[in-house]
Amino acid sequence: MDNRINDISAIDREFVFHPSTHLAQFERGEIPNRIMSGGSGVYVRDRDGLESLDAFAGLYCVNIGYGRTEVADAIYAQAQKLAYYHAYVGHSNEQVINLSERIIRSAGMNMSKVYYGLSGSDANETNLKIVRYYNNVLGRPEKKKVISRHRAYHGSGLMTGSLTGLQAFHNAFDLPMEGILHTACPHYWRYAQAGETELDFSQRLADELEALILAQGPETIAAFIGEPVLGTGGIVPPPEGYWTAIQAVLRKYDILLIADEVVTAFGRTGQYFGSHTYGIEPDIITIAKGLTSAYLPLSGSIIGKKVWDVLVEGNDRLGPFGHGWTYSSHPVCAAAANANLDIVDGEDLTGNAARTGAYFQRRLRETFTDHPLVGEVRGVGLMAALEFATGKDRRDSFDPNLKIGPRVSAAALEHGMIARAMPQGDILGFAPPLVITEAEVDRIVEMTLAAVNHVTETL
Ligand SMILES: *Cc1c(COP(=O)(O)O)cnc(C)c1O
Repeated sequence: MDNRINDISAIDREFVFHPSTHLAQFERGEIPNRIMSGGSGVYVRDRDGLESLDAFAGLYCVNIGYGRTEVADAIYAQAQKLAYYHAYVGHSNEQVINLSERIIRSAGMNMSKVYYGLSGSDANETNLKIVRYYNNVLGRPEKKKVISRHRAYHGSGLMTGSLTGLQAFHNAFDLPMEGILHTACPHYWRYAQAGETELDFSQRLADELEALILAQGPETIAAFIGEPVLGTGGIVPPPEGYWTAIQAVLRKYDILLIADEVVTAFGRTGQYFGSHTYGIEPDIITIAKGLTSAYLPLSGSIIGKKVWDVLVEGNDRLGPFGHGWTYSSHPVCAAAANANLDIVDGEDLTGNAARTGAYFQRRLRETFTDHPLVGEVRGVGLMAALEFATGKDRRDSFDPNLKIGPRVSAAALEHGMIARAMPQGDILGFAPPLVITEAEVDRIVEMTLAAVNHVTETL
């Protein structure tokens, strides 16, 4: 083996195709690689022994924190007993049966069944197929378009990447695909007009949605998809009255509502589901990240009774439901989910997200509301963001070439903390593991302040 690839980090550059990465810069060694090797609680370590407080829980998924042996043990036990059997034509396993019952009972909201995949993207792909099937069974084949929102994130596939409303995920992929539309992003601070209250703003967005539906023809619009709290688009909680106003429009035109709770489900907002926090009554709910805390991949489409009844009726006429993944209802992944939810419930991590989340939100506001680099501090529960801005009222965006968000994120890493530079805008995102303590929140705020001050001084 030649010397160049003796070093494991050189082998990484040589052979691994990394997701969401500048491939050219990575291959040439212009951006660092970091080879992760361990973790415990809210801390994650690399192979050089450098430890970081992970204030983004991986990709807002490691909700129970790193290194929980209970989950590892459950995975081992199930893999020893039965690593796999498929779930086609009525086959099942005890792990997935128990998991489904607890999900449906904890969701409420007239939910009926859970369909399993392995990623948030494939779950939303399943949802899009179900929406088509539903309207075909109801005899309205023209009712197929789906409305998403600018700055939404719903996955990286062809259709789910189309639902995503972020430029970085469309560039040179010929997305969005036909039949996917985008309406306004509910970010009050960024998009409100002068003098508009939050309620006015929410109503205007609902009016814009209605105008879009009428322009397209309501008979062509099948569904609306939204994250209860916008995630990757910048961690933006909805303005007051938003979901009430949006749902009124959807009901008026018989449009299904898909709540994409991949980030918000299982406690993140301080209630079990984000839909509970915001009074959303979805027809379908997407779950993934917090379902297993990413100890293994698993996602779900939770189907409400209204849609389920139509699927059943359709199968009686059209035959079996022709949609299945090899790994649907995977027993080892379901074992990881059950062990994860045992921790979420047993340690009341939802309650911790509410309590420690409130403390986190308060500390961030106290520290950053008047900071010269910060335009907005926002968040709910254990998800939050700082948006950097300039100008007299700190409302103007920085020149994107200054890369303020990535620079603050890099400075935070130097101080020992991972916070994510969100992909669109100068936004630093936080979504720490739900096991976080007030003392650890203090550390986050302290390291963030050091990082923000450092970047401010370089300007
Ligand atoms: C991460 C995410 C997805 C996609 O999940 P993957 O597992 O990456 O496919 C979908 N929706 C939301 C809201 C997400 O945050």
